[in-house]
Amino acid sequence: MTNVAVIGLGIMGLPMAINLVKAGHNVIGFNRSPARIDQLVAAGGRGAANIIEAVREADVVITMLPDSPDVEDVVGGPDGVFANTPADATWIDTSTIRPDVTVRLANAAREAGLKAVDAPVSGGEAGAIEGTLSIMVGGDAADVEAVRGVLDSMGSTVVHVGPAGSGQTVKAANQLIVAGTIQLVSEALVFLEAHSVDTQAAVTVLAGGLAGNRILDRKAASMLERRFEPGFRVDLHHKDLGIVTAAARAAGVAIPLGAVVAQLMGALRAEGHGSLDHSALLLLVEQMSGRSHVDPPTI
Ligand code: NAD
Repeated sequence: MTNVAVIGLGIMGLPMAINLVKAGHNVIGFNRSPARIDQLVAAGGRGAANIIEAVREADVVITMLPDSPDVEDVVGGPDGVFANTPADATWIDTSTIRPDVTVRLANAAREAGLKAVDAPVSGGEAGAIEGTLSIMVGGDAADVEAVRGVLDSMGSTVVHVGPAGSGQTVKAANQLIVAGTIQLVSEALVFLEAHSVDTQAAVTVLAGGLAGNRILDRKAASMLERRFEPGFRVDLHHKDLGIVTAAARAAGVAIPLGAVVAQLMGALRAEGHGSLDHSALLLLVEQMSGRSHVDPPTI
């Protein structure tokens, strides 16, 4: 049994923490809004009143927070993770943040006597609940191996991709592919509706061919019903496309389609839709097609 502290019990962090409980770990959680802590306690975990209480006996500390500044806030300072976690424990950051921030924080963790692993995840809320996340892991090989059991409790595809920061770089590529795919699925659905095709039947056959993808499998049904409760918020994907765009620019790599989708995600957010699921990109396609007023055909 490993003592695991989980900080950030949001859409992803709470189900991940619950899967750690199910795997037999001794889990304690802390979150800014306390209602989420109660849900962890109801599932067999323990709750902490603050970060110090969460981490002081931890073998492993997991952070699952929105953005780079949130992670910097939680790990730094006298009340933060680095100053209060026992030496030799491992800090695993599963948040999606900037790779350069990850590298800097991994160095600071080492200076504080901790091991650092970046382990951003993909698979969405469903993957977090099912424990089937894809986890892209950066860090020293020995440090990663030491926490593989913890990572395996949350994901079914756990791959060490390189040194500190590499996990975040791979996650940035993941977000590029996901955003682009959502945009194309949105365009295809609006196109099919405009031609009054049986969209359910179309999705079924498309999913079986070369156009098949996880967005069609997991999101087409809710997109057709115009249900956009998150899931993965537009605000967060906008953050991630900022990371991809900056990292591509830094490497001198062109990502023309990615740049367009980054603009579209930003526009959706500027229209006040930051709290919707990222599949709400469909709303923009409708708008640009003059079809915002059109109900999806009932067949
Ligand atoms: P979320 O907003 O639902 O959860 C974040 C949680 O962190 C919230 O419960 C919030 O109260 C808590 N929090 C924020 N600041 C805090 C602080 N200082 N101290 C304690 N708690 C604090 O976000 P999410 O969807 O769970 O995403 C978390 C991270 O995972 C993000 O980096 C996101 O990009 C990434 N991610 C999300 C998904 C998804 O489908 N939702 C999928 C893969 C990766």
